Amino acid sequence: MSVTPPNVTVLGCSGSYAKPGGACTGFLVQSQQASVWLDAGPGTLGNLQKHVGLEEVSAIVLTHEHADHWLELPVVYNAVRHYIKCDPIPVYGTRGTLELAQQMCPAMEESFLWNIITDGSQESIGDQQWKWSQTDHYVETMASRVDVGDSSFLFTADTGPEWDISQLGETVSLAISESTFLSHREREGILHLSARQAGEFGQRVNADHLVLSHLAPGESEDDHALQASQVFDGPITVATAGDQYIF
Ligand SMILES: [Zn+2]
Repeated sequence: MSVTPPNVTVLGCSGSYAKPGGACTGFLVQSQQASVWLDAGPGTLGNLQKHVGLEEVSAIVLTHEHADHWLELPVVYNAVRHYIKCDPIPVYGTRGTLELAQQMCPAMEESFLWNIITDGSQESIGDQQWKWSQTDHYVETMASRVDVGDSSFLFTADTGPEWDISQLGETVSLAISESTFLSHREREGILHLSARQAGEFGQRVNADHLVLSHLAPGESEDDHALQASQVFDGPITVATAGDQYIF
């Protein structure tokens, strides 16, 4: 029997809106017993289906209600309801996201089983142990940690620098951090991270591998990697849709 090491595939990683040919935030977290779709940003459904069918998705996790992180969901609602006809897919999301989704998915229960997550929520999804921590962002936003055996993955979701990433542990195999802008904008008080701050976050949790995601439109990938590398000791990758990282 082949053993699949726990891994994350990037389905989209553009911040705010998709770059040409890209997609907004989304990841596929796969292990032996589960395939979890983490954030369903616009454009990620097509990329998801390169790897798994909707009927194979164990659960959908939505970090927060901003459009670039979940608005593929009403499309999935129609796909499941009218075409796939699989069992309702478990969704883990905030109350705010649920309230918006209910407006676009009036018969929600036909496609989704919604579970509200808050700061400190935990859930087992197959062999994946999920844990959430509320970040420093404009709306209630949940960073995620996933443990599979000795392997671990952490996704910051969207956050400003005031969130304490160590709420989700002191060590992690793989960290995917938002990295929206460069350090010269840190003084603006925007509730997102600079590349330098993303590097500090990776260092704080002793990540074996740091991946930068959610770069704002027009940002230089090289500049982001350079600024993060000045404060983070390990390997750094700037996310690209289609990348797969073992953790
Ligand atoms: Zn956001």
